[in-house]
Amino acid sequence: MLTHYEGGCHCGRVRFRIAVDLDETPIGECNCSICTKKGILHLPVARERLEILSGSDDLATYTFNTGTARHLFCRHCGMHPFYHPRTDPENYSVNARCLDAYGPATMAPRRRFDGRHWEDAFARSQDEWAARR
Ligand SMILES: [Zn+2]
Repeated sequence: MLTHYEGGCHCGRVRFRIAVDLDETPIGECNCSICTKKGILHLPVARERLEILSGSDDLATYTFNTGTARHLFCRHCGMHPFYHPRTDPENYSVNARCLDAYGPATMAPRRRFDGRHWEDAFARSQDEWAARR
């Protein structure tokens, strides 16, 4: 069932609302260089299911390597509430830790993405999705 969650950056300038089904879309963890340092918990959200309520002008973008992923962060507090991931750059990955309702027990990661070996991990994840269809 789709549930609405709100979240934001640390200083509160950036606020957003999403609609997700946490049973259908498990929260994931990635071991790539930036996700490890951020400590981000990934929650994939379709573009049309994320609404920026405030602070879109306060977001800055960091890119590296292939430049495909657009790592958004609040230019005031440095927090990264959501971004456009390399695996799905038209959509979002929300940082579950930035949701108001975040709880370590209810939002524990249930998927692992081996982002240190991105090409192999991406191929495997595509196979998993194909198997589910
Ligand atoms: Zn902020």
